[in-house]
Amino acid sequence: MEPAICKSCLGEQERLTRAVNGAECKICTLPFTVYHFKAHHRINRTVICYNCSKQRNVCQCCLLDLQWQIPVELRDRVLSLIQGSEVATHEAQNEMMKRFIALKDGDSFKMGGASITSSASATADALKQIRDTVEAVEKSGKAADAAGPGRDVPLPKNLADLDITHLLKKLPLKGSLSDGTSFFLYNIDPSIPEWAIVDAVTELVGTASWKGPVSASTIINHTARCGGIRFKTLELAQKFIDQVPTFKTEAGSIKGKLLVQNSRIHVVSWSQFNRAALGTKNAECLKLAASLDKLVQKDLNSPAASNTMLTKKQGKVTKRAPSSKDKKRNRRVKDIEL
Ligand SMILES: [Zn+2]
Ligand SMILES: [Zn+2]
Repeated sequence: MEPAICKSCLGEQERLTRAVNGAECKICTLPFTVYHFKAHHRINRTVICYNCSKQRNVCQCCLLDLQWQIPVELRDRVLSLIQGSEVATHEAQNEMMKRFIALKDGDSFKMGGASITSSASATADALKQIRDTVEAVEKSGKAADAAGPGRDVPLPKNLADLDITHLLKKLPLKGSLSDGTSFFLYNIDPSIPEWAIVDAVTELVGTASWKGPVSASTIINHTARCGGIRFKTLELAQKFIDQVPTFKTEAGSIKGKLLVQNSRIHVVSWSQFNRAALGTKNAECLKLAASLDKLVQKDLNSPAASNTMLTKKQGKVTKRAPSSKDKKRNRRVKDIEL
């Protein structure tokens, strides 16, 4: 059986090393046949089993949708938008459910938008709908431009009018990295899968069993580009605070920078850890992402943040010239926003 690996992971590589039952699948936790290969000058490997990959139509390495190269959550949101009904990949919240889903055959059982992106004709239909939607948005955007000068980042009209203060007041927007067992994460690139964030935290605290109640220890909302993590104990949380690199904002607060796959996720304490605060409806999440983007700009624009990185691990201040990387990444994130 050929593994399901996307072109950007595999590159030109044709030689794969196979290890039967080489690891536990990151999704269903069953042992599976792991493939190792060298591509882009490093060793890559499959992290989920073939069946989980088929059920979700994702690459076994990067977990992005095999057809569209975007995170599953984003794929499902896009499809929800164009279909006008909810498309969602509901992952198991407990062991029983995990076993139940794992038993289903990925050839016939598709989760969320996988039923569309795994079928050529359904994908073609969806793409046509997306093109029509984008054209309509462009037209209305042109009409708005003609009406007069707008904001620097124009939001679609229905978003501009949307009130999300009920979400914003539950989020630690003026917070800093101080104490507690739970943390708010923002500036999350939609291409970063949840497991990569979990792995980065695991590496910092030195154990995989840092998570609070398992089903509620990590919440990542890719559309809102933010999320939260919760530690089992204060001790583990303190270790995280001690280990994560930090930076100082212009307003003088210290924030964490969790480094995941060349991207920097901003981290502050979040005593009111709350899944609903990240938005439940599509439009809410998109608006929240736009609000948080402004906060990120503020964090990055402050001279303290762009010129000086405080790294506790080294115990000294490292000077860093403001890089164009941050700007480039912001632009990329905006491109994905529909
Ligand atoms: Zn699996
Ligand atoms: Zn991939």
